[in-house]
Amino acid sequence: MAISEFEIIERYFRQARPPGDEVVLGIGDDAALLQVSADYQLAVTLDTLVAGRHFPPHTEAFDIGYKSLAVNLSDLAAMGARPAWATLALTMPEADERWLKAFAAGFFQLATRYGVELVGGDTTRGPLSITVQLVGQVEAGKALRRDSARPGHKLYVTGTPGDAAYALRQIKAGVEVDDDLLRRLNRPEPRVEFGLALAGSGAAAIDISDGLLADVGHIVRASHCGATLWVDRLPRSRALQALRLEEVIGCQLQGGDDYELCFALEADKAEWLWKIAAQDQLQLTEIGVIEAQPGIRCRHDDGSLHHSQGRGFDHFLQQNNG
Ligand code: ADP
Ligand code: MG
Repeated sequence: MAISEFEIIERYFRQARPPGDEVVLGIGDDAALLQVSADYQLAVTLDTLVAGRHFPPHTEAFDIGYKSLAVNLSDLAAMGARPAWATLALTMPEADERWLKAFAAGFFQLATRYGVELVGGDTTRGPLSITVQLVGQVEAGKALRRDSARPGHKLYVTGTPGDAAYALRQIKAGVEVDDDLLRRLNRPEPRVEFGLALAGSGAAAIDISDGLLADVGHIVRASHCGATLWVDRLPRSRALQALRLEEVIGCQLQGGDDYELCFALEADKAEWLWKIAAQDQLQLTEIGVIEAQPGIRCRHDDGSLHHSQGRGFDHFLQQNNG
C-alpha cells in the first residue's frame, strides 16, 4: 500500500507534545515557533548522513535513525549546550514502512532520552540521505569554544577513541565484527551530560568526528597554539588491545566517528574535572598538553617522536576511511 508524504509525517514523526513546553508551534505549519529563554544563546548544528558515504549501505534503519541524531547531540555536547529542538530532512528512494518505523524508533530513542523535540522537517524522494538540524541552549558566555585553549592547558579525551574506525575497517575487510565494537560505530553515546557539566569551565572542546589528530588540530589552530600528544597513553578498548601497537595508534589518531569529547582545560581545574567525570561514570584520560609552538607533536613515553602517516578525514581530499 502506497503511503503519502502527509501520512509518513503523521504516522512516524509527529509525537505527542509535552505540556508546558517552549515549542509554541511544532510540526504542521510552514515553520516551527520556539520560545527562547532570556540570557541564553542558541547553539545550532546540522549534520548529513549519506548512504554509502557515512554508513555502509546495509546498516539497520534503527541505527541510521539513532546515529543521525547522535552525531548532532555530540556537536552540542562539545559546545556545552543543552539540546532542545530538531528538524529532520529525510530523502529516501521509496516509502518503506518497515524501514520508516525502525528509523523513527532509533531517532526517538535518543530524542526521548535527551528531551529533544522534533519540530519540523522535509520529506522527499531520492537517494537515501538524512539531515538533522539540532538547536540547543547555553547560558550566554558559557559555551565551550575550540579557540580557548592556552599553553599549559592539559588535554583530555573521554572513552576509548579508535573503536569506530576499527569496526569500519573490519566491516570493509568482510570480517565478522564483535557486537560491542559494532555498537561503538552504529550507536555512539553522545557525551551530553559531560558536555553540560563542562559548560562555563572555559574548556576548549571538540567532538571526535574527523579523527583525534585532526580534531586536536582544529583546537590548536583555532587557539593559535600547538600540542604534544602522548600516544602510548591513549586509552584502548579491549578490542584494540589485541592489535599491533602501530595499528592501534593508527585507528586512534586517524580514525573518526568516535563522538568522544576531546578538550583542553586549565591545569588548576584538574581536581574538579576528575570529580565530575567520576560523577558521570565516564572514562577520562589525560593525553597531552597545549604548547605555544604551533603543530602537534606525537610522542612515545620514552620521549621519541611518533611519525604517523595521513591525517583526519576530509570528504574532498578523500583521505582516511569515513
Ligand atoms: P511545506 O510544503 O510548507 O514545506 P511540508 O509538506 O514539507 O510543508 O511539511 C509539512 C509539515 O511537516 C511542516 O511543518 C514540516 O516542518 C513537517 N515535516 C515534513 N517532513 C518532516 C519530517 N521528516 N519530520 C518532521 N517534520 C516534518
Ligand atoms: Mg517542505
